[in-house]
Amino acid sequence: MEVKTSLLDNMIGVGDMVLLEPLNEDSFINNLKKRFDHNEVYTYIGSVVISINPYRSLPIYTPEKVEEYRNRNFYELSPHIFALSDEAYRSLRDQDKDQCILITGESGAGKTEASKLVMSYVAAVCGKGAEVNQVKEQLLQSNPVLEAFGNAKTVRNDNSSRFGKYMDIEFDFKGDPLGGVISNYLLEKSRVVKQPRGERNFHIFYQILSGASEDFLCKCCPCNAMQIVGFMDHETQSVFEVVAAVLKLGNIEFKPESLIIFTPSFFMLELKEICELTGIDQSVLERAFSFRTVEAKQEKVSTTLNVAQAYYARDALAKNLYSRLFSWLVTRINESIKVLKKVMGVLDIYGFEIFEDNSFEQFIINYCNEKLQQIFIELTLKEEQEEYIREGIEWTHIEYFNNAIICDLIENNQTGILAMLDEECLRPGTVTDDTFLEKLNQVCATHQHFESRMSKCSRFLNDTSLPHSCFRIQHYAGKVMYQVEGFVDKNNDLLYRDLSQAMWKANHSLIKALFPEGNPAKINLKRPPTAGSQFKASVATLMKNLQTKNPNYIRCIKPNDKKAAHIFNDALVCHQIRYLGLLENVRVRRAGYAFRQAYEPCLERYKMLCKQTWPHWRGPARAGVEVLFNELEIPEEEFSFGRSKIFIRNPRTLFKLEDLRKQRL
Ligand code: ADP
Ligand code: MG
Repeated sequence: MEVKTSLLDNMIGVGDMVLLEPLNEDSFINNLKKRFDHNEVYTYIGSVVISINPYRSLPIYTPEKVEEYRNRNFYELSPHIFALSDEAYRSLRDQDKDQCILITGESGAGKTEASKLVMSYVAAVCGKGAEVNQVKEQLLQSNPVLEAFGNAKTVRNDNSSRFGKYMDIEFDFKGDPLGGVISNYLLEKSRVVKQPRGERNFHIFYQILSGASEDFLCKCCPCNAMQIVGFMDHETQSVFEVVAAVLKLGNIEFKPESLIIFTPSFFMLELKEICELTGIDQSVLERAFSFRTVEAKQEKVSTTLNVAQAYYARDALAKNLYSRLFSWLVTRINESIKVLKKVMGVLDIYGFEIFEDNSFEQFIINYCNEKLQQIFIELTLKEEQEEYIREGIEWTHIEYFNNAIICDLIENNQTGILAMLDEECLRPGTVTDDTFLEKLNQVCATHQHFESRMSKCSRFLNDTSLPHSCFRIQHYAGKVMYQVEGFVDKNNDLLYRDLSQAMWKANHSLIKALFPEGNPAKINLKRPPTAGSQFKASVATLMKNLQTKNPNYIRCIKPNDKKAAHIFNDALVCHQIRYLGLLENVRVRRAGYAFRQAYEPCLERYKMLCKQTWPHWRGPARAGVEVLFNELEIPEEEFSFGRSKIFIRNPRTLFKLEDLRKQRL
């Protein structure tokens, strides 16, 4: 009998890298390239999906394709993101296993598109009916809302997500969607006031400006989506008022003479408009832009702001207004879509970033990617090896790089870079980026993955490629040089209290809600948590959440730097394959077994294929499976008996079993 599986027959190149012969970097890349040139953008490493951004629309996401992949075995058809989606959905529905889909790759590699494809596939195959459809619409429409506010055009991607997103989609016992919960991670709020050359501010500002006419609110793309998600009209209105206020804040200018003597007239039209829009008392806001009040114990001291400080205050307010609005949007969407049952999480988070100038934002993003790699290593590689040991199966040890040491360099509570930065930010006296760097040099100088020139014992004293104002970290994905300028300031994330109080006094319920700390009754002399420690805490929560779920991986690869179709740049792809650790991934898979299953369910599923085991097998399940495999003449080298599970080496063997089973059904 022919085993019909597209994975093995009529396949361009090799569909599963596990079956690639010989296996090395060149053959790996050539296989990807060959498939890419034939419009095959998906390739497996066992159950991991590699996805290469085609940068053009391929006819492979149609409703017909959805039907094709629906309820089929993972290895049955040619590799596709739908196969992974279907597998995850069915394990969730039929085996009650919470799932998470982890999508990684660098900016522009196709992560966000992949997450949307997974969501739309799941929406297409799960439950039907009016109520279910409304939930689905809400889940899907949360994407355009968050993209309008959280995405921007960058050099690398015209629609780059400037925040990390994790979305749990929740299902009832039948597998019908009930709702979801979204978590957002560190919106790049500095973009509100400053954009790198050739890049833009968040999409929403342009959408607002282009649709500034009266009927704008009805036409603007996120508005429709907001309505479907469940925003009331007055809420949508409030949101746009805040966005408009942020826009107008950017137009405020401070002139030297105006701040020396405080006169109400020097502030311009913008300020008046902001106040009209937001219900803030103009004199309160004017004062807040002119003075800074520091409260200590019972004392209050006000000092006049100079021009630079006034601009700093303005930018801080714009960034805070916007990022808090964004968090509020996420909370508000969650209210619309929340309930609790079985869950499928989809994580679409900014990939590893290595730019020419890397600052605090890249440091934080790359830290997050180190943690994700850690989870990948833990869950896939380590778990795989440990399972073999547990099951008593012969196993050749595979060396792999464990990046725990880099995570520790960053997050260790005593000696980690983030802890050092916090310590510096909280220390009395003059704190600058340089004093922070000095501190790093003292504490981290001997760490294998830390490089700088300043420390006396530095191994890098003569490395002129490393400026004095920088430190370098050897990440799992490569070396990244961080410019220390701005670290202290960005970590402090300071908004003068005068401004938060002015916002809290606004006659605008949304703005008031965004600045709870402005309430004078709740004055808190303790400083709020730093940006770094907040991020560290939210990453820790995310990791905990992911560890409770069954992981599914999509590894996105960017084929070229030109955002162009049909171009496959070998060097660029090679770099990504290396830092994603894909080759290592194949090696572990090959050394092992493609499939494993506990004896009981295995026997239950296939016992119909053998007279001795059908309809009842009396005796241990393991013995039953032995009889079964013997009877079916499955070659000995194809499987191993573990303590509690059967291990099958090649997916082919599994297809054969599945096909035989289908013929009998
Ligand atoms: P990332 O989130 O990884 O930064 P995106 O998912 O935003 O990248 O993808 C960048 C661009 O690449 C998209 O705007 C789209 O034009 C294109 N793209 C990504 N994935 C696909 C795909 N599967 N098919 C067609 N075009 C894609
Ligand atoms: Mg994205």
